[in-house]
This record gives sequence, structure tokens and C-alpha cells, in this order.
Amino acid sequence: MQSDAEPERPYALAETITPKVRRVLARNPSPFTYTGTQTYLIGDGAEVAVIDPGPAEEEHLAAILDALGEARLVAIACTHTHRDHSPAAAPLSARTGAPIIGCAPLTLEDDGPRADAAFDADYRPSRVLADGESISGEGWTLTAVATPGHTSNHLCFALEETGALFSGDHVMGWSTSVVSPPDGDMSDYLASLARLYERTQDTIYFPAHGPAITKPHQLVRGMLGHRRSRERQILRQIEAGNTTITAMVPVMYKGVDERLWPAAGRSVLAHLIDLERRELVVRRGDAWHVSEEIA
Ligand SMILES: [Zn+2]
Repeated sequence: MQSDAEPERPYALAETITPKVRRVLARNPSPFTYTGTQTYLIGDGAEVAVIDPGPAEEEHLAAILDALGEARLVAIACTHTHRDHSPAAAPLSARTGAPIIGCAPLTLEDDGPRADAAFDADYRPSRVLADGESISGEGWTLTAVATPGHTSNHLCFALEETGALFSGDHVMGWSTSVVSPPDGDMSDYLASLARLYERTQDTIYFPAHGPAITKPHQLVRGMLGHRRSRERQILRQIEAGNTTITAMVPVMYKGVDERLWPAAGRSVLAHLIDLERRELVVRRGDAWHVSEEIA
């Protein structure tokens, strides 16, 4: 999943990526966050927006505030509410007066067993953006692109003036996204990938983790193919007698960092639920079987 080259880790430092986009990397590296969460600052004029403020760590908050300088923060936007993305929204809003505008809060009683980041239950947006709605400031317009799947509330943000898409955890270059039921949904995830594939206006993706994606359509097509091949692999596993997720993961993810196996198991479950909806498999307890009609 991860490349051998040691990636750069410029923590607590605002880097200019394009004239309208700066990035501040949070010091929360992990097998799920790569080198950490990348907070993006949008705008090179008097008004700036922040995308994915990240974890509420003082060093990271101070770096964001420092990067703002004299500019006014007019919006704090979150792609989704995993704990590596949204907790800094509240303290940043308190210190700057900027509104939190973006993804919906989640009101889950139980988000299920997770292997990746848990949800930020304290997230309180002042405005939720529906698909296609925009926020704007001097020289920039960010439009929400609803992309449920990794989480049910996931949004990408398109920077209309440049063709850049902030892809959050929906599409990342260094790793596939974790899709963990019940909030994570593979049917939605695949539909959201197909949706991005149709958006020809996006020429570069800036994900929340890992390097920018300069050939986004090629990558998305590859990801759709990868998910279809995982599906076929799961059906073959069942036919070979590995009918439980516990039996499938060590075979399917051989060679992958074992710390990621629990998350891989959640993604296999997400695929199985999608296959079940399509009536290709049936569940009996912990075991899965290929449907009679196609067996
Ligand atoms: Zn996430």
C-alpha cells in the first residue's frame, strides 16, 4: 500500500502548492493517515477558507493561524467527521469567529466496530452544504460534491477557478479508502467514484492524506477496476471454502501491513454487503455463500 521512499513530513508549516492553495500538515501520522492530515488553506487575498482543519492539536492550530496572517478566515469546511479531520473546527472557529460550513454531522448511535479513525461526535456545523452548493470568498469558489461511501456524510470540494478537487478520504493516491459498515457503504462508495469519473472538469485532486493526484481520471478508473477485482477475489474465496471474513483477509491481504488487516476486514464486509444487495451472495451467520442461482 505504501511506497518505500520516505515521504516528506513538513509539520507545522504552511506550504504554497498553487497560487490559491496552501497546505499545513498535522503531526498525526499513522497507518491510516500516512504522514498526517493535510489541512488546506484556500485563497491568496483578504478572505481565506480552510478545508479539513484536522486534529485539535495546539501546534497544528497555531500553524494554521500563523498562515492566515492578516487574512480573514471566512469558512471552515470539513469533508467528513472522522477524528483526524474535523475536531480542530471548533477551536479554530472560537479563535477566529469563522463559521463551520460543510459536511453534515453524524448522529449515529453506534458506528460499528472500527479499525480506522472514530467519529467526531462534537462536530457542530453552522451550515450544511448540499451537493452543488457553494461558498465563496475573494478570488475563490468552493462547490460541494456529495461523495458518500467512506462515510455517509463525505463531501469533496471543487475549487471552481482552478479545476482542483479536494478529495478528502474519498480518493487518495497512497492507499485505498477504508469503507467500514454500517456508516461506510460500498455501493455508495462505488457510485461516488463513478460520479467523480464523469466530472471531466477536475484536473488535479488534493487528498487529505498523501501527495496530489495529477492524473485523477486515470486513478479513479484504476480504483473502480481494483474494487471490481476485489469483488471477484471475494467470490473466488467463498468458492474455495474461505466463507468467513477471518478466513479471507489473510489470503487476500497477504504481504500487507498486518495492522491494516482489521480495516481490510471491514472493507471485505462492505463488499459482501454490496454483493448481498445485488443478490450475488447470501449470509448465514458469519459465513457467506454464493447465491444458488449463480453457483
Ligand atoms: Zn476518514
